[in-house]
Amino acid sequence: MKKIWIDAGHGGFDSGAVGNSLREKDVTLQLVLYTQSYLEQNYQDIEVRLTRSTDVFVSLSERAKRANSWGADIFVSIHVNAGGGTGFETYIYQTTGLNQTSILQKALHTEIVESIRKYGSIVDRGLKKANYAVLRETTMSAVLTENLFIDTVTDAEQLKKENFLHEVGGAHARGIAKYLDLPSKGNTLYVVQARDTFYSISKKYNIPVQQLQCANPGVKPTMLRIGQHIIIPIV
Ligand SMILES: [Zn+2]
Repeated sequence: MKKIWIDAGHGGFDSGAVGNSLREKDVTLQLVLYTQSYLEQNYQDIEVRLTRSTDVFVSLSERAKRANSWGADIFVSIHVNAGGGTGFETYIYQTTGLNQTSILQKALHTEIVESIRKYGSIVDRGLKKANYAVLRETTMSAVLTENLFIDTVTDAEQLKKENFLHEVGGAHARGIAKYLDLPSKGNTLYVVQARDTFYSISKKYNIPVQQLQCANPGVKPTMLRIGQHIIIPIV
């Protein structure tokens, strides 16, 4: 079971950046909710927790503290940029070397840039490092994404599109799944003991026959799970 913490930037009295009649706290919340639902719909063996699923304020240290005490495997913080630029960038903590955190950053960055490109040209501002509190104070691999610029008209136009936010949320989920090597929901193999039971098992548990395969000789049918395989005892 992988524990995934997703952190929507800002909230409550802290609107984050504002521009082009958008508030950062609203956009980040939408992105986080889409990321969560994509993860839960498409992958198994995960538990997803959010810093916030509504418009409330949570301090930066409190965000890190909650993820730490839950024992999250990864922490992904979602933000929208401001300051007159354009494009997408990701951050990890400034002193992080080449390790798991860099690999998570690369997985997220690559997946999201690729997805955003479907909506037109996008400036890839690169993989960066910074001394951000949520990156510094979290004890697991942590990445912060800056998804376009709220105060740049062409970027804001994208951020106003529901399907664009869906796409970017989905891309966060796929990046996470790639890094954690999450088994996707449709690909689970259910292992049964003999081929002639496939039909009855398929009917009884409502599992497509193509997802059933024979257990290796000697596999104990009482075991519920071997790797991604779920063992179903013969009925
Ligand atoms: Zn922000």
